Amino acid sequence: MHAQGVWVFVEHLGGEIAPVTFELLGKGRELADDLETELAAVLLGDGVRDFAEQLFRYGADKVYLIDDPVLKDYRTYPYAKGIVKLAQKYTPEIILIGATTLGRDLAGVVATWLKTGLTADCTELSIDKATRLLHQTRPAFGGNIMATILCKTARPQMATVRPRVFPLPEPKPRIGVVVEEELGILEEEVPTRIIKYEEEKGPGVYLDKAEIIVAGGRGLGSKKNFRLVEELAEVLGGVVGASRPAVEAGWVPYAHQIGQTGQTVRPKLYIACGISGAVQHLVGMQMSEVIVAINNDPNAPIFNIATYGIVGDVLEVLPAITEEARRVLAGQRGVR
Ligand SMILES: Cc1cc2nc3c(=O)[nH]c(=O)nc-3n(C[C@H](O)[C@H](O)[C@H](O)COP(=O)(O)OP(=O)(O)OC[C@H]3O[C@@H](n4cnc5c(N)ncnc54)[C@H](O)[C@@H]3O)c2cc1C
Repeated sequence: MHAQGVWVFVEHLGGEIAPVTFELLGKGRELADDLETELAAVLLGDGVRDFAEQLFRYGADKVYLIDDPVLKDYRTYPYAKGIVKLAQKYTPEIILIGATTLGRDLAGVVATWLKTGLTADCTELSIDKATRLLHQTRPAFGGNIMATILCKTARPQMATVRPRVFPLPEPKPRIGVVVEEELGILEEEVPTRIIKYEEEKGPGVYLDKAEIIVAGGRGLGSKKNFRLVEELAEVLGGVVGASRPAVEAGWVPYAHQIGQTGQTVRPKLYIACGISGAVQHLVGMQMSEVIVAINNDPNAPIFNIATYGIVGDVLEVLPAITEEARRVLAGQRGVR
């Protein structure tokens, strides 16, 4: 049968849809329009019918729904079975899944059961209109090359994408169609049980939601100097980020690492201090709205993507910026 339609898997937790779902619907809408086909959201869960309306507003033409108590908590087996059942019946051309902990677990199983290709952690997706193939681009070989991967024969073409790689689309009033199917699996058939959830303790680092990130790299030279990055972040009300060497040197915990093996961020302002701009770092932050780079090497690759660049010693430039920011912000407060 002729494969048709772009599908986005709907991830949700505690009664809320994960933002990556909306980001993928935004991208999925573009891909579906290029293919002149429909965009569908794949919604599995227990008591999740009401989500459909939100999914339409974010661009879905259709929602494939399986609502069943067995799907109350995420477990690989029933979720993968449900998606595979839908995919075998309605034959989508493309399935997109968020590269979250859940999505990474699910995508591999679904792709294996459907005997199709999967590209993990894509940073770019586009359609070649002539061939209808999905161009799935991701860093490969430790980020030394960007590979564009095609799945020429098997269907669906499957990709996972990390949160915040694509922008959050604006919701619009729209309506769509709900197509409901049965899961057809009994609780006894599911090999795993959820005993309990335990929340991770410790101070949270909210890099993913930060509007301002001040990030430091090897150029800071020491843990003591790294404090300059923290100070500017504090003054601007932003969050501290770091390159891998700064984390490996123990100047800052791993939760602050940005890049291929750290977090992907998309703030309004990203200030890169003493960071060279290796591709493995860039893939985690290049979508930032405004990028300011401070580096003493005018040829550092970070300047290729910086909105504003300052060539200078970070140990002198940073305190000067912090002081000026403090002065200006204090003035603003005075005016109010
Ligand atoms: C598989 C793999 C995954 C990786 N994942 C990540 C990742 O997730 N995140 C990540 O960041 N890296 C990652 N890396 C490492 C990455 O390749 C780079 O090594 C790293 O990003 C470099 O960090 P840096 O820019 O802080 O250090 P460097 O590349 O050493 O750059 C330091 C910069 O500071 C400048 N500098 C030095 N002194 C001063 C000064 N006084 N004033 C101003 N500027 C100064 C220098 O000119 C230089 O440009 C990964 C690598 C591999 C192979």
